[in-house]
Amino acid sequence: MADKIRVTVWNEFRHEQSIENVRKIYPDGIHRAIADMLNANGFEARCAWLDQDEEHGLSEEVLRNTDVLFWWGHIAHGEVRDEVADRVVQQVQAGMGLVVLHSGHLAKVFRRLMGTSCTLNWRDGDRERLWVIDPMHPIAQGLPPHFELPDTEMYGERFDIPTPKDIVFINWYAGGEVFRGGVTFERGRGRIFYFSPGHEAFPIFYDPNIQKVLRNAAVWAAPRGERIIPDCPNPAAMEAVTGR
Ligand code: ZN
Repeated sequence: MADKIRVTVWNEFRHEQSIENVRKIYPDGIHRAIADMLNANGFEARCAWLDQDEEHGLSEEVLRNTDVLFWWGHIAHGEVRDEVADRVVQQVQAGMGLVVLHSGHLAKVFRRLMGTSCTLNWRDGDRERLWVIDPMHPIAQGLPPHFELPDTEMYGERFDIPTPKDIVFINWYAGGEVFRGGVTFERGRGRIFYFSPGHEAFPIFYDPNIQKVLRNAAVWAAPRGERIIPDCPNPAAMEAVTGR
């Protein structure tokens, strides 16, 4: 692994180009806002997006040189090519970290890694309080016991995911719902963090607590050893095999 954690921030990058209100909040895209914040804090972050090229900016080479991939998508999950999604899944299984944000819960890469529908209840316009329920978790370091987002989109249970490895955040909404809003998984050698805030119509990725979570998540999800693509070798016996 390089000295700095190498993050690729992948974004669908459609709303920022088609909706004036979203463009005002993220003039260069959600990906650029997150990457700039990471680069200002000691990470080596670059961007990739859906319409960047035939491979959505996620060539084998880009992924091999990515320690942690961030993923934001919403209306165009179906336009992500299957072979690119498979490539991301394989790299996660080999050890690349994956941080899935907000509406990325329905992304091909996340659903394939989870094996469930990853559906949830949602409602536009609410107030959210995030409770840190695992304060010793690396992703929770430096955060207060709870913090609020004044304008958010409600994501509520049930969230159809497998039982997480860790539940770092439980979100409460003024409308009455709760949600497992920050959860971790391991798939193969890779670490995965899903984090629910990040609706494009609100400046959520500029919130200092949210930014801290993203930085902590990048550190936590970075590979801890050599990346190994899983395969099925056929080794010779180490000893003389008897009884056959
Ligand atoms: Zn949203």
